[in-house]
Amino acid sequence: IKVNITKVPVPVAYGPAYEGERVRGEQIYLECGGGRTQMVELVTTAGMDDVTDGKIELFGQDIANVPEGSRLPLAIVVEAAGHKMNEDYEPILERQIHHLLNYAQGVMHIGQRDIAWLRVSKGAAAKGFSLKHIGSILHAKLHQDFGGIVDKIQIKLYTTPEKVAEISGQSKKIYAKRDERIEGMTDENTETFYSCTLCQSFAPSHVCIVSPERTGLCGAYNWMDCRASNEINNLGPNQPVNKGAVIDAKLGQWSGINQFVEKTSGGVVSHYNLYSIIHDPMTTCGCCECIAAILPLCNGVMTVNREYAGMTPCGMKFTTLAGTIGGGITTPGFLGHSKYNITQRKFISAEDGLLRLVWMPKSLKDEIRERFNARAAELGIPDLLERIADESVGTTEEEILPFLEAKQHPALTLEPLI
Ligand code: SF4
Ligand code: ZN
Repeated sequence: IKVNITKVPVPVAYGPAYEGERVRGEQIYLECGGGRTQMVELVTTAGMDDVTDGKIELFGQDIANVPEGSRLPLAIVVEAAGHKMNEDYEPILERQIHHLLNYAQGVMHIGQRDIAWLRVSKGAAAKGFSLKHIGSILHAKLHQDFGGIVDKIQIKLYTTPEKVAEISGQSKKIYAKRDERIEGMTDENTETFYSCTLCQSFAPSHVCIVSPERTGLCGAYNWMDCRASNEINNLGPNQPVNKGAVIDAKLGQWSGINQFVEKTSGGVVSHYNLYSIIHDPMTTCGCCECIAAILPLCNGVMTVNREYAGMTPCGMKFTTLAGTIGGGITTPGFLGHSKYNITQRKFISAEDGLLRLVWMPKSLKDEIRERFNARAAELGIPDLLERIADESVGTTEEEILPFLEAKQHPALTLEPLI
């Protein structure tokens, strides 16, 4: 059975033309996620008999039941079945949710996984846009674009806080399992990296190069995911890129990567380094999970995750940082990266990696603690995380420096950062 759907059954205009459209302040009817409420997206594989194609269910409040300016938690769960469907393809289908929802006029989507963020405009609400239409969009478009692997799709949407929290908890385990599939692979032993140009609709010159030891900066795509995506569509946004000759092993620069980046950035970016924050770092787009910045006074680097809304020692909040460096260009001293990447061996390794990390929000510490401690032990400083400052110590360089000195943070004895 192959389902063919050409038109997307929603009451608003739909197409790539609306992708970059923003829904701001006064125009917002409903907002989900983005740190205001919890929002999570998950695609899972189900058996052919367990999926009723086109079934869309909403559990909880819908747009029509809430007053304008409301906020709701939201979980979007897509169950896909097909003879070729398998776990490897789940992250790829899941990452489509972002642009597929952005195609709807009056709908703005940012982020992915459990840091997704959705806004529905007053205009879309007035036309009768319902949360169930999220299901209609995903059902129609996933059939259209991934007909080769999915035969049946059903969607469940939840807007009750308990259920969204429960699904978020389950999802975290699934995300961790996906992330770990690349453990054991190294960049040195891998000749072919993958590109991702999915974000070029927002940041036209942005090209992610995804290596085994550097996941995509959105956190949603690792090397395995890109390979699976290329298997599904070999003309798609994830292309194999041969590293070519080594230009600088420490900074992480190769001739093949440079050529590819130059070509696919439209000539805007001629080269970049995968392992450095200071010397021509990789470009950053707006959907990175974290942004690292250098702290010259502390001879170190800080990083901040999207969910942390407070001030940081580099003098900017996450939103300001993202607005400043997220346009798809190289910004020395700043770097977008995924949460998982912090504990990968090549994270800013040109500047001594984790030994440079002097500040991050407490919630981020808690989230990555287990993997961080394992990596810190490898580096011979098992209590490194306790020597890193967070917002309870301070949010300026001057405030955190005495703490770093008292803790004998290793960054203070490394060679000068700049
Ligand atoms: Fe792809 Fe990078 Fe965008 Fe993630 S951030 S979707 S890896 S281009
Ligand atoms: Zn992006």
